[in-house]
Amino acid sequence: MAIGFALMRGFEVDGAVVIGVENAAAGIGTAAYLKSQLLRSFASVIGVLSLGIPVLILGFSPIAGLVWAPHSSVPQHEFRAPDTSVLVVVFDELPLLSLVEEFGQIDRKRMPNFAALAATSTWFRNATTVSDGTSVAIPAILTGPRSNGRQLANTESHPENLFSLFSPTHEIHARESSTLICSPQLCPPLRGSVMENMSGLLSDVTVVALRTILPAPLTLRLPGVADRWSDFLDSEIRLGVTEIFRQFGVSFSASRRATLGYLHVNFPHSPWDHLPSGQRYGAPDLVRYPSGLKNGVWTKQPEFAHRALQRHMLHVGYADRLLGDLIAHLKAEGLYDDLLMVVVADHGVSFEPGEP
Ligand SMILES: [Zn+2]
Repeated sequence: MAIGFALMRGFEVDGAVVIGVENAAAGIGTAAYLKSQLLRSFASVIGVLSLGIPVLILGFSPIAGLVWAPHSSVPQHEFRAPDTSVLVVVFDELPLLSLVEEFGQIDRKRMPNFAALAATSTWFRNATTVSDGTSVAIPAILTGPRSNGRQLANTESHPENLFSLFSPTHEIHARESSTLICSPQLCPPLRGSVMENMSGLLSDVTVVALRTILPAPLTLRLPGVADRWSDFLDSEIRLGVTEIFRQFGVSFSASRRATLGYLHVNFPHSPWDHLPSGQRYGAPDLVRYPSGLKNGVWTKQPEFAHRALQRHMLHVGYADRLLGDLIAHLKAEGLYDDLLMVVVADHGVSFEPGEP
C-alpha cells in the first residue's frame, strides 16, 4: 500500500479516493501473492535486495559524509578580531525587491524598521545571492567561497567559517536553521536524555515516512523536512519565529564579553501565513507550497502568483517588525551603539506567472 501511495502522490485527487483505490489494490496484490508462486519468488528477491539500500545510502550517497566524516577540530587563526560584538541576522527567502519602493529606496511605510536600519548603515543595494538553495547560499555567506554543490552544509565540509574565525576572541552564540556549520566544540548541541532522543528520532522518522508515502493532499498538515536536519516538529514550527527572535535577543544580550551572534531563521520563507502584526491566518497557512506553483514553476494564469505575492508582502511585513523588535531590545540593553550588525538574506523568491 505504501508503494501505491507513493506512486499516486503526483496525482491531485482527493486523499479519501486514494486510500480507497489503494485498499482495493492492496487486496488484489495480497490475493495475487497468495496465488502466484512467481510473485512470491519475486517478492523474496526484492526483499533481500532492499537490504542493499542502507549500504548505498551510508556508503555512496552524499549523506555518507554525515556518518563517516571524522570530527574536525576548529582551525586556529592568527586573526584577532577587535573587541566588538558582532550580530549577523540571516532571513530566508527575502528578495530585496520586496523591501524597496518604485524609486529603489527602502519603503518607509511598509518596512519602517528595514528603512531605519538602512538610513544609519551601509546598504548594499546590488547585493545578490550565489544560489536559490539555502544549503548552498548559507555556506557562502559563512565562509566566502561558493560551495561546489556536492558539499554538505556542515562544519566538516566547511571547517573554516565565520565561527572558527571569531572563536579565539569572541563568545559564539549561534542559532542555525537548515545548516550545521558551527562546530560542536563551539556550538555544543543540546542533548536530552536517551528517552528524549529516542522519541525525537521516532517523531522525525514518522514525519519523513508519512511525507514519503502519503498522497500530496494528505501531507498539507505535515511539517516540511527539506529545510532542516531534524526536529521537524520542533524548531520554528513549534516555538514560532516570534519566540525564537525574543529568546535569541535575551540570551545574546546576557553575554558579558565580546560575542559573535548568528541568527538564521526560516522566515519569511513560505508558507506565507503572517500579517505584519504577527497574527497568523487560516487554513492556507498550512500549505507549504501555494496553489499555482507546480514543480517550482508558477502557472501561466497570473492570479496565483499575484495572490502569493500579496501574501508574501504581508509576511515580509512581519519580518520587518521582528527586526525592529530585536533592535529595540538591543537599544534598551545599551548594546546597539557598540555593535556591528549585519542583516542579510540567503536568497529571494520570484512571482512571475509562467516562470520559476
Ligand atoms: Zn533559503
